[in-house]
Amino acid sequence: MAVIEIKGVAKHFGSFTALHNIDMTIDDKEFMVLLGASGCGKTTLLRIIAGLETPSQGEVWIGGRRVDNLPPRQRGIAMVFQNYAVFPHLTVFENIAFGLRMSKTPQAEVERRVNRTAELMHIEQFLKRYSGQLSGGQRQRVAVARALAMEPEVILMDEPLSNLDALLRLEMRAELKGVLAESKSTAIYVTHDQVEAMSLADRIAVMHKGHIVQAATPIEVYRNPATRFVGGFIGNPPMNFLPAQPSGPNRFSVAGESFGGPSTGRPLEFAIRPEDMTLADSGGIRATARVVEPLGPHLLVTADVDGTLFRAVVESDARVVPGDRLNLVPLPGRARWFDPETETAIPA
Ligand code: ATP
Repeated sequence: MAVIEIKGVAKHFGSFTALHNIDMTIDDKEFMVLLGASGCGKTTLLRIIAGLETPSQGEVWIGGRRVDNLPPRQRGIAMVFQNYAVFPHLTVFENIAFGLRMSKTPQAEVERRVNRTAELMHIEQFLKRYSGQLSGGQRQRVAVARALAMEPEVILMDEPLSNLDALLRLEMRAELKGVLAESKSTAIYVTHDQVEAMSLADRIAVMHKGHIVQAATPIEVYRNPATRFVGGFIGNPPMNFLPAQPSGPNRFSVAGESFGGPSTGRPLEFAIRPEDMTLADSGGIRATARVVEPLGPHLLVTADVDGTLFRAVVESDARVVPGDRLNLVPLPGRARWFDPETETAIPA
């Protein structure tokens, strides 16, 4: 059982606060992804869990044991970092076997585990090669295989696929998901790639300026962003926002159209995802198309709504050209509302 509990963890570097009072529990065997823009504190949090950084405040517990005062090797974790510390003077086999040798695993078991994980990572053909003779992407796979071979209670990964080309990255993402679903490890995975996060995670913790702003399943984060930041960060293209003026009990005027909304009685922000609208002949949000980009299955229309940038993803056979006046009708149940001051979601 390796539940990970982070209790009131803060990290200061001089006068700069990289993490503010982080509380989070990661369940046994859960795959948690830390997602956020560069500099939001993801790596710092991972390093604190790993024991490579000490928290300025707070506690880290793994499997019911307080570990923030223990060195990394006593925490029962395996790590894969961006700079994959693969030893160039060792063969791929010995690199993968490294941790197992340290823990005096019998030779037959070492061979079984190295062969199995090398196969999973598609590097079995390189086992006899020196790691110095591998490409960056191949070395990265060796680093992942080495961590998996330990069959650790906890596996921590910091952008482990960052050096792979797009196609291999896609393939490895699926492999990694399969491998970890079968393993007994609790996993924490750092990325700034939202597609990777959505694809891999049981839950995503979205980080912003040293805070966890939402920790929920990928679909929840996507459909019901807790804050405006999450709605604007997740999704490509991101959520659209428009000012909403109260126009009656539970009603708001948005770009000239009346919508049912929360009962706050004060101005809010109306939010809608670009793919959550259909083109109609009348009604809906009035937009003027500015740029039309064919994306294969869809058209991405960048438009203008009363001076606000607004995007819609419409069917590829829709005939839209720049300058067209569009009527975009939100799909039922898809509009969201945010408080313009606190930037938090308001339930409708
Ligand atoms: P990236 O995706 O770019 O790796 P990140 O979200 O992982 O970003 P962190 O590496 O955790 O971000 O850094 C968070 C903040 O803390 C950044 O502003 C960074 O400059 C700062 N920081 C990290 N380590 C140190 C340090 N040793 N001394 C001073 N500031 C630091």
